[in-house]
Amino acid sequence: MNPRRWWLAGAFFWLVLMGKPAGASAATPVEVHPKINATFGEQILFQARFSPAARVKKAVLFYRPAWQQAKTFFSEMTLEPDGTAFFAHDLRQTPFPAFVTVYYWFRLTLTDGSTYTSPSFAFVLTDTRFHWQTMEAPPFQVFWYRGSAGFARKIADAAAAGLKQAQALWNAPAPESVTIYAYASPQALQSALGLQNWAAGHASPRLGAVYVALPPGPEQEAEIRRLVPHELAHYLLYHAAGDLGYANLPAWLNEGLASVTERSPNPDYTAALEHAAQTGQWLPLSGLCAYFPNDASGALLAYAESASFTRYLLKRYGRTAIHTLVLTYAQGVGCREGVVQALGEPLPLLMRDWQRSITPHSTLAEALNRLLPWLLLLGAVAASLAAGAWVGRKSAA
Ligand SMILES: [Zn+2]
Repeated sequence: MNPRRWWLAGAFFWLVLMGKPAGASAATPVEVHPKINATFGEQILFQARFSPAARVKKAVLFYRPAWQQAKTFFSEMTLEPDGTAFFAHDLRQTPFPAFVTVYYWFRLTLTDGSTYTSPSFAFVLTDTRFHWQTMEAPPFQVFWYRGSAGFARKIADAAAAGLKQAQALWNAPAPESVTIYAYASPQALQSALGLQNWAAGHASPRLGAVYVALPPGPEQEAEIRRLVPHELAHYLLYHAAGDLGYANLPAWLNEGLASVTERSPNPDYTAALEHAAQTGQWLPLSGLCAYFPNDASGALLAYAESASFTRYLLKRYGRTAIHTLVLTYAQGVGCREGVVQALGEPLPLLMRDWQRSITPHSTLAEALNRLLPWLLLLGAVAASLAAGAWVGRKSAA
């Protein structure tokens, strides 16, 4: 079940619970009325009212943000005699990313010594620093806070075009719904995600949404067409591969498929590839399995190579084979073994074939090199024939 469905399930429980008449039944000895008050970047105030109040001796709150599957926080709540209870989570000390779904539930110790665990509830931690507007364009829902409705429309259009491209290129899955959060600056997005060493496209799929930074300016339109499909592709790969499977995708394949999904590709990639072809300073693909270089030029070449290599694989093997390659890696197969299993060729051989396919100049040079002795011989023969003819003409004259 995807996080949003869980959220819906949580909301459903909430409705079921809130819809019940007052008074505890045998199955639920205590009624639980939860309430959340959150200020992004500051605190989440978990509140609850338990009734009948006299039955509750102790309340422990459990909560888990959806992006940290393994980590559940818990703490005893302050319990008042009237049955209200509260606990504040300090987001300054332990930040959670914006718009993450947080699941929470209560374990109550009752006066008769028994314990009762409530159903699970959920809420979405809104980034309250900005005044958000929304646009529905199924399956997309765009959230933004700077710019006109036309800006949001362009984002939705770029997402639709990216989805079409991803499905045509590598059989990307059809999502039920995708929420896109558009921040107006990289800094705002960075602080929204509150994650150290965050890099675009790596953390956001796990949050169950697409996050993009699209500052206003002359480059914005091209950036929308590049970045929105790129991040959407990561999101779709996450849903195709699953949580653990996504983590096992080689970086070159993950970024390669995201790059070929872009609707206005990065023009710097061509120059980076040409430079590598001229100098022979390629990054071996086997070195781009787990992560990309940190330095700017290394990272640019890593993206350029991944995009070009992935495009080559798609052309040579077709989308069904590349979809199979994604699923092979999603099963935990190693970076070098995955291509052998799914495509029948080792990575260094594929890299050599790809490089030959994109550097026609060098193959022409190689061909000329091989022909050089013959050309010299031909030249010598032609020269001696010409000399013979000249001597012949001389003696005839
Ligand atoms: Zn990416």
